[in-house]
Amino acid sequence: MSSALPLRPELVGQLPYGAPRASVPVVLNVNENPYPPAPVVVTAVGRAAAAAAATLNRYPDRDADDLRADLASYLSGDTGVVLTAAQLWAANGSNEVMLQLLQAFGGPGRTACSFAPTYSMYPEYARDTNTAWVLGQRAEDFTVDPVAAAALIAVHRPSVVLLASPNNPTGTALSPDTVRSVYDATAGNGDGVVVVDEAYAEFRRPGVPSAVALLAGRPRLAVVRTMSKAFAFAGGRLGYLAGAPELVDALRVVRLPYHLSAITQAVARAALAHADVLLERVVELRTSRDAMAVALRAAGLTVADSDANFLLFGTFPDRHAVWQSMLDAGVLIREVGPPGWLRVSIGTPDENRAFLDALAAVRRVGTP
Ligand SMILES: *Cc1c(COP(=O)(O)O)cnc(C)c1O
Repeated sequence: MSSALPLRPELVGQLPYGAPRASVPVVLNVNENPYPPAPVVVTAVGRAAAAAAATLNRYPDRDADDLRADLASYLSGDTGVVLTAAQLWAANGSNEVMLQLLQAFGGPGRTACSFAPTYSMYPEYARDTNTAWVLGQRAEDFTVDPVAAAALIAVHRPSVVLLASPNNPTGTALSPDTVRSVYDATAGNGDGVVVVDEAYAEFRRPGVPSAVALLAGRPRLAVVRTMSKAFAFAGGRLGYLAGAPELVDALRVVRLPYHLSAITQAVARAALAHADVLLERVVELRTSRDAMAVALRAAGLTVADSDANFLLFGTFPDRHAVWQSMLDAGVLIREVGPPGWLRVSIGTPDENRAFLDALAAVRRVGTP
């Protein structure tokens, strides 16, 4: 970047977010759903886009009312919690939803916090909104210790607390008790908004509850979801949030006018109408995840318990060498998380087998 530009000092030398991309046969690095949408969904999405195309001279529905009603009905079905459109908000991916949360509730003189290891985008929302950033630590088992969290919150009085559950890159789901404790800890200590990022919620193991069940009576709680992972809709860019109507109204103030295109609204609605088909593969992916954890452990590796569509495994004295050797073998995984760990997304059975075979070969030969 040219030093002649009046760049904000905190952006000097910063690189755009992005996982390394490579054209190799097996891509298991960004937690996508490995299955493209089923033909019935492709047809429905195509029809919806064509219908929306006929009115593209007009601006779209600014508040995406119909889409939010559809999201409310889907999320009510997933969680058993009755929700209305007024409690839902949608944007271009959950990343935009969370940036809007920081735009509304962060800002100069304010602080946001999370607990590491966690999603690498959180500090970027803080940076981009001039919000101070504080990072606590997760416990050894990658859960959030409520006592340590309360201590951090008491000192820094954050106006936004970001909790990923299931967490990326560890796969760890937080218990409702932990979310409740963190919420209670913010009361009188900044009275911050507690954001539970449930990007991987549909992959949680049976019996693991969603924080949506905690919304009643907690006006500062927001639960963020996305269609990017379980719904196999990462390219559609649709993320959403459930929270109190007052919290949603605050996001309506900061959103750009007509932020969600008519095409996006139409295709997301068409996809949601086929939620059952889109989510069909989730059960299979969960089963593959659990089988892969068993296989990795049987091979002598440590694997973090996962409620997501990926596994964090290790540890390796030189993880970069392992990552590189895997890439050379045609398998792209992710070098992320605490030192020594690697992350692999769950793919198709063929991709999973290719990953396990390549890893076994790499470990047999040894890395430099
Ligand atoms: C993938 C992911 C998201 C989803 O981002 P979108 O903008 O909805 O595609 C959000 N949070 C976490 C922790 C993720 O890993």
